[in-house]
Amino acid sequence: MARSEHISGVAVLGSTGSIGVSTLDVISRHPDRYKVVALTANNDDEGLLAQCVEWHPEFAVLADNKAAERLQQGVRQHGLETTVLSGAEALEQVAALDSVETVVAAIVGAAGLRSALAAARAGKRLLLANKEALVMSGRILMDEVEKHNAVLLPLDSEHNAIFQCLPVDSNLGLEQAGVDKILLTASGGPFRTADIETLETVTPEQAVAHPNWDMGKKISVDSATMMNKGLEVIEACWLFDVRPEQIQVVIHSQSVIHSMVSYIDGSVLAQLGNPDMRTPIAHALAWPERIESGVQQLDIFAVAQLDFEAPDNQRFPCLELAFQAMDQGGSAPAVLNAANEVAVSSFLDHKLPFTGIAKVIRHTLQHASFSEAATLEQVLSADQQARELASEYVTTERYR
Ligand code: NAD
Ligand code: MG
Repeated sequence: MARSEHISGVAVLGSTGSIGVSTLDVISRHPDRYKVVALTANNDDEGLLAQCVEWHPEFAVLADNKAAERLQQGVRQHGLETTVLSGAEALEQVAALDSVETVVAAIVGAAGLRSALAAARAGKRLLLANKEALVMSGRILMDEVEKHNAVLLPLDSEHNAIFQCLPVDSNLGLEQAGVDKILLTASGGPFRTADIETLETVTPEQAVAHPNWDMGKKISVDSATMMNKGLEVIEACWLFDVRPEQIQVVIHSQSVIHSMVSYIDGSVLAQLGNPDMRTPIAHALAWPERIESGVQQLDIFAVAQLDFEAPDNQRFPCLELAFQAMDQGGSAPAVLNAANEVAVSSFLDHKLPFTGIAKVIRHTLQHASFSEAATLEQVLSADQQARELASEYVTTERYR
């Protein structure tokens, strides 16, 4: 295969986060292929300044205005030519720049939705880590990708694995391609074998200590409740045009198989590798070529054993809530996502017990008004209403 010779401009949205930093690590190994054009973060001006000093991007964006003023001073003091912008609209602006070919959408939560949509509308190569964008508005995002000839490549390790196990041209539909089922693997998180009675009292520190992956706090808590897998079921439905019942969640505690695709002839294809996000990032950056990622080759003898078990719905009620929301459709997944964001941040602030997270989400799904979520306005209004319902439920402590 001919190696690409042109240099691709990259915007890393959420560059100071776990995925952002891993992306820059992969890019640093290939200066002949990628140029960092824009870096963005929420309010960490010091972290973003350090990245500007290293990468000399054309643009640096902070969502927070005050932090952006401090970054502006730092950029001046270092004599950098980087243009500093602030606010949510600037994220959309840099996602659509002419000099940007690839947008890495690695902002956490609903805050990443508009910039992911902007990248799709601008017809970019969109490397999506921000699964919440698809959960909230899968139909809208997929339509924008198609309408504007954008290329959507999944960074989430499971979806990247599924993508690698599907036929290259699966546009005709997965049934046509002979796919029977998707086997979505999950580690089971830190509480897979804990006594259920003790879950009530787990602390944020225990919940974010994931056994296999080093990730941001929100997704780490999502992994502990398995809401992460719930969000990923919804993400897979949109990405691969499958129904929830075509997805089987499989607990695989070693996190070596990153997901599998089962075909009607009895074949099961799997993608394996060490649990390090630089593999799916490198895959998506270079696709359809392959580049080095910095990840150590899998030592299959050291792995020795692979275990699989069915998830326990009693231990992980969030998983079932996600399946229900996807079955319901319309605004339900956006409501699920918003309630989860409120619940997780309340838990991290010690305002909600771990077991309260599922209760807040269930309550919010039951009480939110339903819409088709056919427009961005409808999605954002469902998100807003769900946040209010969930916050009120947390404050009044009715989950007790
Ligand atoms: P993180 O918390 O480490 O980083 C989040 C990034 O988003 C930071 O750069 C932060 O500054 C930025 N950000 C946060 N709030 C913002 C706001 N309101 N406006 C603008 N920017 C904001 O998170 P992460 O672990 O890197 O995860 C990022 C996304 O990737 C999430 O959607 C997560 O589900 C997904 N993902 C992460 C991993 C992983 O291994 N970390 C794996 C698969 C998918
Ligand atoms: Mg994942």
